[in-house]
Amino acid sequence: MPLSLTVLGTASPHPRPGRPCSGYLLRGGGAEIWVDAGSGTFAELQRHTDPERLTAIWISHLHADHSADLLAAAYAFAYGGMTPPVPVRVYAPTDCARRLAGFFGRPDVRFLSGVFDFRPLYDGHSVRHWNVRLTSRAVAHDTETYGLRAESQGSIFAYSGDSGPCDALGELASGADMFLCEADTDRHREGEQVHLTPEDAGDAARKAGVRELYITHVGPTLTRESATARAAAVFGGPTRAAREGETIPF
Ligand SMILES: [Zn+2]
Repeated sequence: MPLSLTVLGTASPHPRPGRPCSGYLLRGGGAEIWVDAGSGTFAELQRHTDPERLTAIWISHLHADHSADLLAAAYAFAYGGMTPPVPVRVYAPTDCARRLAGFFGRPDVRFLSGVFDFRPLYDGHSVRHWNVRLTSRAVAHDTETYGLRAESQGSIFAYSGDSGPCDALGELASGADMFLCEADTDRHREGEQVHLTPEDAGDAARKAGVRELYITHVGPTLTRESATARAAAVFGGPTRAAREGETIPF
């Protein structure tokens, strides 16, 4: 089965009605991977799959708009009867387990081991997960953050996470069939490049030679439509806004 991506949420920096924060369901090659667990996405996930079927969760970084619903999943798995047959593998920045345990007021993380199997990410982390090769690269944000490249049977998916302009984005997206890229900011503030403008997203897509660009994580100073049009003008190839509920095969 080729890869497909289901969009669960795209909002930044807070969820809105019908529009959760960042979250996606990547399926194919025997895997079902929840990519970013932004606020509101665990509920949306249940429209598209049974959470017990998840083979992994991949978290770009620990800001709430990408990770808060790990808590919702922990409750569902531990107390809600949605207990997965084996603890769900969680690829995430190093501190993820400790932060989650902290919410429960627990000093050690072992009580989560019945539901989650944490695997810390690092720059260049690469793993074969079912029939999908997952590669994570550190990107330019204001906390430890990764972008993702997933390859299966000739399909390539790339995801920016939250990032300012950086070389790792181009390497992750090189030749991708689908590049899911943030376009959070209208313009860079002096001395601060922790997100992309739509032009940055279009430029990264063009340099990486991607087949199709999907714009997501559009911040409050932009609209999805304007961000997508601006990115398309620089990319010069097929460009769309990611929209909640759609499933895109590629
Ligand atoms: Zn974000």
